[in-house]
Amino acid sequence: MRKIKVLINEEQINKRLDELAKQLMEEYKGKDLMFLCILKGSAFFTVELAKRIKNNIQFEFIEVSSYENNESTGKVKLNKDITGSIEGKNVIIIEDIVDTGRTLSFLKEYLLQKNPESLKICALLDKPSRRIAAVEADYVGFTIENKFVIGYGLDDEQNYRNLNYIGYVEE
Ligand code: 5GP
Repeated sequence: MRKIKVLINEEQINKRLDELAKQLMEEYKGKDLMFLCILKGSAFFTVELAKRIKNNIQFEFIEVSSYENNESTGKVKLNKDITGSIEGKNVIIIEDIVDTGRTLSFLKEYLLQKNPESLKICALLDKPSRRIAAVEADYVGFTIENKFVIGYGLDDEQNYRNLNYIGYVEE
């Protein structure tokens, strides 16, 4: 059994989610929202953030992959597309972590072709030291150092997603 160290605990996550929700409610006052959840890693973050927001929120789910054996392959693959329209909607892409930025730069370009009213990015985590593609999230939960993190939706080869904290495996 590998030893998992806590990087960000549940209390810290909850506090930051409260702040992010408040910020989004102020900026989108009186507007309906669409949360576009990137599967599978962002599922937990999407739900927990949405529960804190009073605006009406519609949801779409998209699945992309770029990681194999915990390494970024450099190529983004669309595994599952959205099923509804985002045209004219205030879309917020909900992402678990921005790493090289390739996923978000691919998705931004892809989704902008579908004519949303607005398109923003909200990421739970940001690893700016790893950035390759020029893309930044508009809202960030936590900026972290270059560690491979797991939990709160993030996996280690499909495991550990249900940890209620963000951790890392000690080498
Ligand atoms: P990017 O395209 O920005 O390189 O990578 C984004 C995706 O890579 C994330 O949505 C996530 O699935 C995966 N990823 C990047 N860094 C990590 C990490 O530290 N831990 C885990 N579990 N996944 C990561």
